[in-house]
Amino acid sequence: MPHDIDLLQALPAAVLVTQNGVVRFANAAGAQLLGFTEPDSLRGQMLAHFVHPLDQRRSHRRVQEVAGAEQAGRPNKASEFRVRTLQGHLRMVLVSSVAIDWHGGPAVLMTGMDMTHQSEIEAELRESEQNFRRLFETMQDVYYRTNAQGVVQQVGPGVRRVLGYEPHEIEGRTAESYYPHSSDRDAFKAAILAHGEVSDFPGQMVRRDGQVIDISISSHALYDPAGNFAGVEGIYRDVTQRKNLERELQRLATTDMLTGMANRRAFLECAESVYAHSLGNGEPLTLLMLDLDHFKSINDRFGHLEGDRALVEFAQAVKSQLRASDVVGRLGGEEFGVLLPLTAIEEGLEVAARILASICALRLTDDTGQAYGITASMGLGAFRHTDRSLRDALDRADQALYLAKHRGRNQVASLEPTGPQPQTPTG
Ligand code: GH3
Ligand code: MG
Ligand code: MG
Repeated sequence: MPHDIDLLQALPAAVLVTQNGVVRFANAAGAQLLGFTEPDSLRGQMLAHFVHPLDQRRSHRRVQEVAGAEQAGRPNKASEFRVRTLQGHLRMVLVSSVAIDWHGGPAVLMTGMDMTHQSEIEAELRESEQNFRRLFETMQDVYYRTNAQGVVQQVGPGVRRVLGYEPHEIEGRTAESYYPHSSDRDAFKAAILAHGEVSDFPGQMVRRDGQVIDISISSHALYDPAGNFAGVEGIYRDVTQRKNLERELQRLATTDMLTGMANRRAFLECAESVYAHSLGNGEPLTLLMLDLDHFKSINDRFGHLEGDRALVEFAQAVKSQLRASDVVGRLGGEEFGVLLPLTAIEEGLEVAARILASICALRLTDDTGQAYGITASMGLGAFRHTDRSLRDALDRADQALYLAKHRGRNQVASLEPTGPQPQTPTG
């Protein structure tokens, strides 16, 4: 069985005994803590020599206290001290002391634990916590967390700027309450449940003042230790400005600036989707191609600017004869397209006649007060089961337009058979 002193020497914790401030004993760990390789060389040194100047008074007071009669035999509460090693390195040591008897005289036994590393971790933790707080308080995005029922548990101060509410007004209410319609959050919830997270998910929210704003949400699902869905945590941000810009760019890219109608690309894109829909439902669909007659001469007589004005008036006359579900666009210079869903040839011809009449009825005057009128020619194309694409009907309408021009303008022409449609064999 090893001797008590051998046990102390082997103890991995630092142990020191002092008498009147002088080190009488140090185990290997104690010597190492203060930078000594040999415990013996520490013996006889003043302990104060190794205590940081700022901690000396406290250290002295504590040693006095444990040595006091009523405290005898009871260790004091561990406390951290800055210690300077033989080599001058600073260490943070957690020290606890107790009064003992050492070879017949009063002494203090202390144990020390090197906390230098732990203190660093703590400082790092504190700093990261401070960083988080700073970020939390100042970030433009709104941090939020809901429980499984969608009730907001916590929301960051960014919500003041984004929604105009104080965080405490939102905490405890359902996240849905801030959407224009409570069902608007369903798509988000479905995405979170399906993927566990969403990034830049689009949505809208209503500010306290009633204004609807565009938001973008990035969040992930939370789960309890048993793996059950426990809520959502993430951020959302106000992207109204970006969305407005996108909408404006989209408008610029799809609108003809002169007439305000869809431009060629937007018209054809829309026509494709209407075509697919009609085809899928077996519904009739009629297409009109319009071209102003002798428009070059309008420009020549009244100038290009007046020509532009005439185009605007023309566009309005055409639109005035259409339903909201009809699609109209400017295909090029003075050429326009009209798509009439749920419209068969006969009805399409009637619409075409109405449009022609409204164009003829236009009474235009140039800036010198000279009055003039315009006419247009039209080609009608109806979709057939046998068409392979929208292009086929467009081509027939184009040919019909050419025919209308050829026959003397200011009229509608069609290559479609009127009356009962020939049945195409199926199967
Ligand atoms: P047609 O009856 O055969 O269609 O004769 P047209 O003169 O209308 O036909 P053409 O295609 O030869 O000429 C079209 C004219 O339309 C020529 C062009 O200067 C004019 N034009 C095209 N776009 C615009 C525009 O945006 N503004 C104005 N003012 N004129 C335009
Ligand atoms: Mg023309
Ligand atoms: Mg033309």
